[in-house]
Amino acid sequence: MTCDQARGLIPLYAARALSESDGAGLIEHVSRCTVCQTELVEAMQLGHELRATFGRLPGAPEGTWLSVAARTVGMPLLQVDLGSEMAGLSLNVGATRTGTPITGSLSILGREVPVLRI
Ligand SMILES: [Zn+2]
Repeated sequence: MTCDQARGLIPLYAARALSESDGAGLIEHVSRCTVCQTELVEAMQLGHELRATFGRLPGAPEGTWLSVAARTVGMPLLQVDLGSEMAGLSLNVGATRTGTPITGSLSILGREVPVLRI
């Protein structure tokens, strides 16, 4: 692993978002490289301080998330449209009472063709 690769993984490691195998590769590199070792220690300290700070913040009042969920049921959470007048791809994520379905469709010359429903 190069230093550039290690530095790309350090923030993920500090955020505990790195896979076990990538983490093992990073640690193997850091054990031999003092520059990356210093960067990893700083990133982990920053991550620890951020988690501690957020841990001290008061949470949302009870019932807030239920209220938000009740008001957003059926509303699209995300829509991504790519393409032009000739062809395009649309991806939608919406909230329903049973979850967040993800749908995708391909549009060719104005005709919608569903291609994905999860
Ligand atoms: Zn390095």
